[in-house]
Amino acid sequence: MLKRKFGWTGAEVPMIGMGTWMIEGDNRDRNRDTERRAVEALRLGLDLGLTHIDTAEMYGDGRAEELVAEAIDGRRDQVFLVSKVWPSNASYEGTLKACERSLKRLKTDWLDLYLLHWPSSSYPIRETMRAMEKLVADGMVTFIGVSNFDIEKLKAAERALSKQRIACNQVQYNLKYRGMEQRLLPYCTEQGIAVVGYSPFGHGNFPSSESPQAKVLTDIARRHGRTPRQVALNFLTRHPSTFTIPKAGRPEHVRENSGGVGDWKLTENDFAAIDRAFPAPRRDKPLEMI
Ligand code: NAP
Repeated sequence: MLKRKFGWTGAEVPMIGMGTWMIEGDNRDRNRDTERRAVEALRLGLDLGLTHIDTAEMYGDGRAEELVAEAIDGRRDQVFLVSKVWPSNASYEGTLKACERSLKRLKTDWLDLYLLHWPSSSYPIRETMRAMEKLVADGMVTFIGVSNFDIEKLKAAERALSKQRIACNQVQYNLKYRGMEQRLLPYCTEQGIAVVGYSPFGHGNFPSSESPQAKVLTDIARRHGRTPRQVALNFLTRHPSTFTIPKAGRPEHVRENSGGVGDWKLTENDFAAIDRAFPAPRRDKPLEMI
């Protein structure tokens, strides 16, 4: 698995990692077999070099973190481990306590990266960032960041810090949702902030095989001896500041995703074909979020 520098931190992180939202199964499909398969999938991902694992206290009310702990047992040092505090817990004390609980569920002493999951309407960003700096000072967290922050909120988070810097902004990024390319990605690149794109397959909304968009991906995939999903992952990591974290509860999906980057590259013609099929938002057009 190819790695690249995680922004200014200099940490070498795989371009494709693994998400864990709903890894324990949804309400219909939540049982020990699903969980065992999810742990197996995560372990296979580590074997294949997908060593960036993204989780959160919110995922399965902490169950995802417990499953991650099972998967990384004995190999903590190989993993770039990320978790997140939920905004309603993001007071100064609340953030410290949330991190402690996550570390306990994850059976580890430290997180490589700790994020505020969404901007909080309950607590000022200064309070959360002060707690984040304390977590770094205490050695519980190596780097800190945010998620779902637009540029203005990101700047406010940067201003709220006195000793640390924001290392990452995690935002939605898939073929149908390319808003962050407009302003956020250039800003983050300038600041050396890594941009981690979540829901690379649209959280189950990948173009259906009958659609004209899927045909474009299939044609490109065929030329490279790859699959449409691998084409998507390659495209979503084409910019040097970006990373992607597909969630796959099935080992065969993890194996496929691990081939999204490697000794092959999309061409300029492929980029142009994807741009035509999945247009990026125009620069002068306001975006929903970013
Ligand atoms: P996603 O990765 O876009 O899609 C996951 C879905 O795609 C699952 O149903 C999975 O199936 C399927 N899949 C994965 N690989 C596949 C393959 N090769 N072939 C066919 N299907 C495949 O969705 P996501 O979970 O929303 O996003 C990924 C991660 O981003 C999350 O797990 C989470 O860690 C993070 N995230 C963060 C935020 C935030 O607010 N910061 C929000 C959303 C997500 P199986 O599970 O059956 O393999």
